[in-house]
Amino acid sequence: MRILVISDIHANLTAFETVLEDAKGGWEYVWCLGDVVGYGPDPNECVDLLKTLPHLCLAGNHDWAALGRLDIRTFNPDARKAVSWTRETLTPENIDYLEALPTTFVIGQYTLAHGSPREPVWEYILEPIVASLNFSHFETPYCLVGHTHQPVIYELLNEQGDTDMIAPAYRQSRPLNGRRVIVNPGSVGQPRDQNPDAAYAILDVERNVWEHRRVPYDVAAVQKRMAQFDMPERLIARLAHGW
Ligand code: ZN
Repeated sequence: MRILVISDIHANLTAFETVLEDAKGGWEYVWCLGDVVGYGPDPNECVDLLKTLPHLCLAGNHDWAALGRLDIRTFNPDARKAVSWTRETLTPENIDYLEALPTTFVIGQYTLAHGSPREPVWEYILEPIVASLNFSHFETPYCLVGHTHQPVIYELLNEQGDTDMIAPAYRQSRPLNGRRVIVNPGSVGQPRDQNPDAAYAILDVERNVWEHRRVPYDVAAVQKRMAQFDMPERLIARLAHGW
């Protein structure tokens, strides 16, 4: 079975629809690694669309923030404003959907978490040392995470914990070959690796073959909706730059 692996949609319906169109016919099931909402202008539309797909979904920190499970006083003012707007905008049905999301999932040879297997909702795996410390926190060969909005593969090299950080090679199949890896598909709706294109991945779970992908979407259309909802200027601007 081929899995469409997505993460950090962040209420960006245009990016989400573009990814589905780009990946059309190439997958049978969706694994969504959390942060369906937060930042973007289409929280209900994104949850509604996800619900129509055969899928499983994890909870991310922004999903929890929208549910009021987090103390958002530590968020910066822009993020706080976006959280409050999302909370007021979500329908009761979609709040129920987000309430029910688990924080981790283990399926066959894969462990799934939003942030990391060690701290599923919170931890950012942004460098090899942090990835290295996480390999002892899952039992399957492979782990999938999101949260950083940066596509990457971390591979454990030896028992001493040395870990390689491998940049994505887009639209190239990469056999995982039983090596222990932590893989991040990047973000659908708010990339933060200086590349504004939506990121996702296709995973063949029988052959254990991974493929990172990018696809451009209509950023201006999303920015226009955000402006209509009077969302913070900085959040609108960042989509065009991918930070
Ligand atoms: Zn996120």
